[in-house]
Amino acid sequence: MTDKPYLTGLRVPSRENPLRILLSACLLGELCGVDGTSNGSYPSALKLRNYNNVKLITFCPEHYILGTPRETPDCEGGDGHDVLDGKARVITQTGKDITAEMIRGSLKMLQIARENEVELAVMMDVSGACGSQVIYNGSRFSENPGYQIGMGVCAAQLHRNGFKIISQRDYASLEILYSKLDPHHALQKDAIDHDQTEWYRHYFKKD
Ligand code: SF4
Repeated sequence: MTDKPYLTGLRVPSRENPLRILLSACLLGELCGVDGTSNGSYPSALKLRNYNNVKLITFCPEHYILGTPRETPDCEGGDGHDVLDGKARVITQTGKDITAEMIRGSLKMLQIARENEVELAVMMDVSGACGSQVIYNGSRFSENPGYQIGMGVCAAQLHRNGFKIISQRDYASLEILYSKLDPHHALQKDAIDHDQTEWYRHYFKKD
């Protein structure tokens, strides 16, 4: 299992005082993906709808700034933190620089997180906006697309402002979350987070 005090230390919520979780809107099935889909179906996130002691707040920063459908943005020259620091930019598949727009979307997401006093964010990994562990390294439509370890712009904005983030692929972390929401949850002790997978360790040469 994963050792993340910010998860094990989450309070036990009640129906009257639910845990406030911010989700990438597509993870709950909203059709806000670049192509007007929900980017697939992720049962690990959809499961959160089953609890009566959680308040789910959803937001899609890319839909907020660009609408849907839209071109696909990715971080180039660094990750979301680098974008916020002015050292990298966000480009679309046709090369449009939408750095300023993406930062605006990240600030809106931060505003929503603050207004709702969010206690945890569950975000779609690999997105140039919402990714929390892995994102594309430059446009995914380039000749040689690849990945980098890092956060998307909106995840980075939340992270540097104190919000904790896990992705829909962080199964060990999600197990801890489920057990907070349901004391009878049977913990899957062999669940692993994305950065513990064979793919991640092999791709980023962690072995
Ligand atoms: S920006 Fe985030 S919420 Fe919107 S479609 Fe992409 S991953 Fe989902």
